[in-house]
Amino acid sequence: MGELRKDYVLEKFVIISDTRKDRPHDFHKQQNTQAAPTNKICSFCPGNELLTTKEIMHIEKDNKWIMRVIPNKFPALELKGKSQITTDNQYYTYSDNYGQHEIIIETNKHGEQIYDYSREHFIKLLHLYKARILVLNNNEKIEYVQVIKNHGKDAGASIEHSHSQIFAYNMIPITIQQKEKACKDNCAYCEIILREKDSYRRCFENNSFVAFTPYASRFAYEIIIFSKQHKLSLIDFSDAEIKELAEIMQKILAKLKELGQDFNFYFQNGIKNMHFHVEFTPRINIFAGFEFATETVINTIYPEDAAKWYRGE
Ligand SMILES: [Zn+2]
Ligand SMILES: [Zn+2]
Repeated sequence: MGELRKDYVLEKFVIISDTRKDRPHDFHKQQNTQAAPTNKICSFCPGNELLTTKEIMHIEKDNKWIMRVIPNKFPALELKGKSQITTDNQYYTYSDNYGQHEIIIETNKHGEQIYDYSREHFIKLLHLYKARILVLNNNEKIEYVQVIKNHGKDAGASIEHSHSQIFAYNMIPITIQQKEKACKDNCAYCEIILREKDSYRRCFENNSFVAFTPYASRFAYEIIIFSKQHKLSLIDFSDAEIKELAEIMQKILAKLKELGQDFNFYFQNGIKNMHFHVEFTPRINIFAGFEFATETVINTIYPEDAAKWYRGE
């Protein structure tokens, strides 16, 4: 068991989950995801299904699974206890760490990484994300479903076999709440997209999506995809739009492969008003004392230069 706790005075939350500390780390003392030879048994590989938690679902091709969804063995969130967030004695705001924490094993090939998938496989993965969001949303105590990908040790991955994670929990993240506010009445992002898609920060565009490096990028080579239409969430997209989302995500992932650095990406799905986007955060610069003290990040690459690099100029 664990808890969700709020800072004394700030709108910031932490999850305390002491089961997480026991999780295995493939990357101990290894420098690089690609170069890491594994001599341990990988529980995410075909043949080792019994080593994982009980499967929730899988996707098949030619009678073999190609993607599996399993509960995280070391969950940050659990479907038990109190989901209601309450305040005691003024400064102690908390609930249990209520929710569901799932792993998507994205491929049955151990060495294959997210930027290596075929278009068909990548589209299937996006559909799987969408399907899990729809299922997890059915629990009325769940307020938000967060899909994330950590690629490599510096991005927080502890197992090298390519996987994504889904956190479904009992609050709307503060960032999403703030962005929801900015999209109420008139959506700020609808206007921002129109400006940025023709700016020095423009990167890629297709019929339904546009990608640019954000004006105040926190990370070197940070890049964001927005839907051109004001849509809220992955669950609102048609099959044709998901294909186009796959196309633009794979363009970015190919560039990130070339960059050779660890990275995260995460979906920012709106609830009532927020405009859908996906953020990619390469993990080159390290957040240190100044960043923690001030929440002002020092980024060493201008987003305008990063965009040039994405465009191949
Ligand atoms: Zn494996
Ligand atoms: Zn909008």
